[in-house]
Amino acid sequence: MDIFSKNLIPVAMSFILLSACSSENSEQSTKTTSTKNQSSIALSNKAKSSLGKVDLLITNGTVYTGESSDAQSLDLAICGQMICGMYATGAYKIEATTIIDAKGKVVSPGFIDPHTHSLAELLSKDKNENLNYLTQGVTTVVNGNDGGGPVDVQATVNRLNANGIGTNVALLVGHGSIREQVMGRAERFATPEELKEMSLLMTTAMESGAIGLSTGLYYVPGSYANTDEVIALAKIASKFGGIYDTHLRDESTFNIGFTAALDEAINIVDKADIHLHLAHIKALGVDVWGQSKQAIEKVEQAQKRGISISADQYPWLASGTKLRSAVMPKWVMADSKVAFHQRLNQTDLAAQLAREITENIRRRGGPESLAITEFKDKSLVGLNLQQVSDLKKLSVVDTAIWMVQQGDVRVASFNMSPKDVENFMVQPWVVTSSDGTNGHPRKYASFPKKYQSYVVEKKLLDLATFINKSSSQTAKILGLEDRGILKQGYKADIIVFDEQAFAPKADFNQWNKYSVGVEQVIVNGKLVIENEKYQHILAGEFVH
Ligand SMILES: [Zn+2]
Repeated sequence: MDIFSKNLIPVAMSFILLSACSSENSEQSTKTTSTKNQSSIALSNKAKSSLGKVDLLITNGTVYTGESSDAQSLDLAICGQMICGMYATGAYKIEATTIIDAKGKVVSPGFIDPHTHSLAELLSKDKNENLNYLTQGVTTVVNGNDGGGPVDVQATVNRLNANGIGTNVALLVGHGSIREQVMGRAERFATPEELKEMSLLMTTAMESGAIGLSTGLYYVPGSYANTDEVIALAKIASKFGGIYDTHLRDESTFNIGFTAALDEAINIVDKADIHLHLAHIKALGVDVWGQSKQAIEKVEQAQKRGISISADQYPWLASGTKLRSAVMPKWVMADSKVAFHQRLNQTDLAAQLAREITENIRRRGGPESLAITEFKDKSLVGLNLQQVSDLKKLSVVDTAIWMVQQGDVRVASFNMSPKDVENFMVQPWVVTSSDGTNGHPRKYASFPKKYQSYVVEKKLLDLATFINKSSSQTAKILGLEDRGILKQGYKADIIVFDEQAFAPKADFNQWNKYSVGVEQVIVNGKLVIENEKYQHILAGEFVH
């Protein structure tokens, strides 16, 4: 393939944009040195003379634009926050303040993670650089997933701006948060007045730049809502061009069942006329293993009817959650923490509670499949629920009850079948995410893990597909119009990584080790990781 003729148009375009950039550097001399390849590209003298010094040049790299399925030999020029030129490698010598020689390396759009729980870090003073994401190659994260996150989006944006952040962030507004603000953890449907109040909060959040509505219909208090309540709020998100992002009411056989929960989600977006994004798609637990097939068919049938659907997925066989969310019945957790803990000790409820907890543990694959990842008694971290039960000489149920009463307990729940994970992963509508939470390596290593396990080892995806599913496709789903693609006029969120070295370091024994192999990270035109070293530059922005 003749790479130069293929890139003729982008090359010509680059000079138009470069001339705009050069005005910022008017005091600097303009220098253009063409290489031996110049004969393949015709440029007027006028265009040449307008070429100025750019801020950053990434040269000699193997470029995946996020859109194409082919690698291209391109040089990328960056002016300020933008990609201001892309042209055949070496075709022109462009002066730049900083030059990155990416010979032998992959140049890709910065990855976009549509499902994280990193807002607390972004708002903190010591973790706001979001380094566990930057080191995975992630330059934009979404927060407010699973129905959680702040209701007051504007106040959050103000705090983020004042604090400074290492990655870009987009915010969903959580149905569970809105519901809790209006009606606490009441286990009932909303009254018309309460729904009106929720709608007002939803409208304000969308006006403040939220990119859509998230629900966590599996979790308290989202689980107490009926479908109509969600449709009403999704309609508001739709009016503002947002999306509907859902952690399904059931990914297993906890209540209505996995495929019925999928039906509910499709019904919601059909009625609300909005894009459906399925969070961390999975068939959770032994009862629904193999149901990836039915779920995929359901999605495809709905897509044929004109319903817009996508999903994200993290590349691990274990989910991560709180022990109480994993095994406790929802009715026990109603109203308040005090009420919850009282019910756990109530003798008249004990038999029913034991039955339901036992059943929930069975669904997930038994007590051996639940590994403790966070607990106040650190000596129990790393053990599974069966081992803790043996150690404490308590029944499995009593162990679970005892543990949740001690405070927050996080578990890695090994509940997915490899076949289902792979079936979902290859669907054209499924993109990469982390769902990063403490105690689970997905927070530090999801993108390199997917690359190593499914691109390099299993060869389930090729490199371009992996990149596209981690950048441009995600940007499109989220409605981020000028990100996720390497293209002139797009924001310069770019990574350079080594194909051989890009790898996870975190695992279930040590969940919080930084990933390796991403050598350069550029966020909004700023080189924030240089030669794998963080540069202490907070270049992220609130995006919508
Ligand atoms: Zn979730």
